[in-house]
Amino acid sequence: MSGDVLRLLAPISGIVVPLADVPDPVFAQRMTGDGAAIDPLGAELLAPCDATVVQVHRAKHAITLNADGLELILHVGIDTVALGGEGFTPQVSAGDRVRAGQVLLRFDADRVAARAKSLVTPVLVSTMDAVTRIEAAAGRVTAGHDVLLTVFRAEGARPAAAPASSRVTAPATAPATALATAPAAESAAAPTTVRSEWLSIVAETGLHARPASVLASTARQFRADVRLERGDASANVRSVVSVMALEVLGGDRVRVAASGDDAAEAVAAVRAALLHELAVPAAEPVPSAARPKAATAIAEAPAVVGQGPLPLRFSGVAASPGSAVGPVFVWRRDAAEIARDGGDVATERRALDAALSAARRDLGALRERLTAEGEGERAEIFAAHAELLEDPDLLDAADAELRAGNSAAWSWRAAFTAQADRVLALKNPLLSARAADLRDVGRRVLAQLVGRDDALGAIPAGAVLVAEELTPSDTVALDRNRVAAIATVMGSATSHASILARGLGIPAAAGLDPRILELTPGTRVVLDGDHGTLRHGLSAAEEQAVTAQLADAARARAAALAAAHDPAVTTDGHRVEIAGNLGDAADAPRVAELGGQGVGLLRSEFVFLERRNAPDEAEQTAVYERVVSALGPERLLVVRTLDVGGDKPLSYLPMPAEENPMLGERGIRLSLAHPETLRTQVRAILRAASKGKVAVMFPMIATLAEFRAAKRIVEEERAALGAAPVQVGLMVETAAAALMADQFAKDADFFSIGTNDLTQYTLAMDRGHPRLAPMVDALHPAVLRLIDRTVSGAHASGRWVGVCGALAGDVAAVPVLVGLGVDELSVDLPLIPTVKARVRTLSLSACRETARLALEAEDGAAIRALVATRHGGPGGWRLG
Ligand code: PEP
Ligand code: MG
Repeated sequence: MSGDVLRLLAPISGIVVPLADVPDPVFAQRMTGDGAAIDPLGAELLAPCDATVVQVHRAKHAITLNADGLELILHVGIDTVALGGEGFTPQVSAGDRVRAGQVLLRFDADRVAARAKSLVTPVLVSTMDAVTRIEAAAGRVTAGHDVLLTVFRAEGARPAAAPASSRVTAPATAPATALATAPAAESAAAPTTVRSEWLSIVAETGLHARPASVLASTARQFRADVRLERGDASANVRSVVSVMALEVLGGDRVRVAASGDDAAEAVAAVRAALLHELAVPAAEPVPSAARPKAATAIAEAPAVVGQGPLPLRFSGVAASPGSAVGPVFVWRRDAAEIARDGGDVATERRALDAALSAARRDLGALRERLTAEGEGERAEIFAAHAELLEDPDLLDAADAELRAGNSAAWSWRAAFTAQADRVLALKNPLLSARAADLRDVGRRVLAQLVGRDDALGAIPAGAVLVAEELTPSDTVALDRNRVAAIATVMGSATSHASILARGLGIPAAAGLDPRILELTPGTRVVLDGDHGTLRHGLSAAEEQAVTAQLADAARARAAALAAAHDPAVTTDGHRVEIAGNLGDAADAPRVAELGGQGVGLLRSEFVFLERRNAPDEAEQTAVYERVVSALGPERLLVVRTLDVGGDKPLSYLPMPAEENPMLGERGIRLSLAHPETLRTQVRAILRAASKGKVAVMFPMIATLAEFRAAKRIVEEERAALGAAPVQVGLMVETAAAALMADQFAKDADFFSIGTNDLTQYTLAMDRGHPRLAPMVDALHPAVLRLIDRTVSGAHASGRWVGVCGALAGDVAAVPVLVGLGVDELSVDLPLIPTVKARVRTLSLSACRETARLALEAEDGAAIRALVATRHGGPGGWRLG
């Protein structure tokens, strides 16, 4: 130890794994403490420095040390508490003084590995408030030799004497549990002490590191001194080590006590966290058959605390990758109070007319601006809005309210909300989009009357925007350079705000708990767009760690960008094509700028959506030619034919409401039902093909008959036009297409795997469902087996295979997909340089082995852990 820096030697030999990649959210999210983990190559745990042993956990898998006032937790493996000590042989006891390098624990690695989720061993500093920064080594470390962690202490954090001051020594009779204990009567003496009833712990594994971490992070939200009482002993709930040292086991009774001004709230929150499957009120019988696993209880506990205080962590849908830390900017729409009583009718009517005219002018200007910026499709949205303002029913309804003596603002709001509600009640998906448009344009007029809540344009730089939802109007009003991240209650990965965020490279999460709107403005939060979470209540050290990670990620991105034009070739010479996905012709120049080697997926829907009539052949040809010319002569453009139906209606294509739209007439099925629309599109694609390299691809193919019928249309139109042949391929989005790939390969020139749909159909989980989102992981072995089958079926006939679903841009998935033999990865444009850089770090031979192991894995989480161990890198981007 020197100065205010503590150097901790690796307690075990192995490969360093960043905490964020540990397959347990409690460690990955640093709820237990900060540090690093080691994927062990040995079976002996050594003391990382001179220290005192605070506790050897009863299940013998974890040891807590006190090193000059800092608490250290060494936790062998994940979920190893459940082994009940089997396979572990501690070499020390609580109270022992140990020297750096001394053996603390031996374990039978094979036995433990066979039963535990993982052997990855977190090494943590749990007293995070006492440190400012922790630097972790990377790569391979040797136990007792290499420094694993360099811990920088906060000024004045070094205590006069160890151990940690928050605890009271145990009664002399107490066993080695004792550092944590204090007589309950002592805290009871304080006049403001609030206590819960006694609660029985039903989880057999008791209060080990994970539940203790959840309780500690809950307690840290409050000023009150919160303690957990078990018999005569008690522990400071803020301290994970203190709670662990209380040695609460399944069947024990505990209660929560707190003193201080927010004691009642603190007790309620900690009690709620405990009750979430880990405990029941002591009077209730403890269910035996249905005893929950502690793991389940803990992983979800923070999300259910929120009857009173807000949860520390909100989970929704990953909507746009990346993370950001910043102050919350809560944007509430319609926050303004509107007075009902108006002046005289004529004055109010004039005010409304003026507001309507101003809104029309705004819309006209917006439309011109977007058209000039090449965003013709978005301009159309506002043209449609302008038309709504002429709707006679809407204007009559507003006038009726005015005549009843109501103010202009009141009347207008009543009219447009009533009309939008009526439209929505018809339960027609096409009309519900109109309802959203009505509200959007209605608010625009209202803003003229009550003073626009244009706070959206005045977001403080670096803020995390928290909103119920963002409409097209909101997103154009947004000062995009100031927004660090977006969190919305409504929406899914495919909603407007999410698509916008992805295009701009802004991290975003959607489908979050409405209570995010209750966050106090300015609260510091971390938004993780890779996992769809929003967290607050982080300690300074935690926030610093996140900021450091973000800085690392930004540096890595900058390096990837600098090398964007180099090919993606593995260290052993295997080349993978990296292409971009396009959903707007205006973005086409960015493909080449970012090093994209083509467009693996042009989502042609953008040519068809948000308009009144189908685009004609000339208009479509112009759009595709624009993309072809931006790509230049060498890059291939794969145009996917219209993929609508299901949840994406078109006003000019009749689509009856369906019971199960996702399983109904969508994609190629709809195109074959309206062959003229398909023929027009095919002709436009073939015309554009004369200007460069173009291929046609059909979406949602399930049967050979569908593919052949669609391909026949291409052949007929090609013959009629006298055009040159183009490659014709299919998207693999159904299990049927994957399993039959060998047969499709006789007719198809190529395959592109749409993992977004392939995952939802394979797992039978809606890809946009906020609650299912954490499970909709395209890195599921079932999906990988289908990819494997597709690749082998295609390669047997010499056909190439791409992946164009979001999995292709998931850095955790890249080694697996390369190992499975995928030839092309087509990703959202901002991800092109990152994916290329990732490929350059890999060797094909290692990827093949990873893929082999992944196909045998149990679930996506196991594969993510496998990849992190074998190839490093972050936990990945989980959108199906
Ligand atoms: C997919 O399903 O993976 C895909 C790329 O298509 P989309 O996301 O447009 O449905
Ligand atoms: Mg799809």
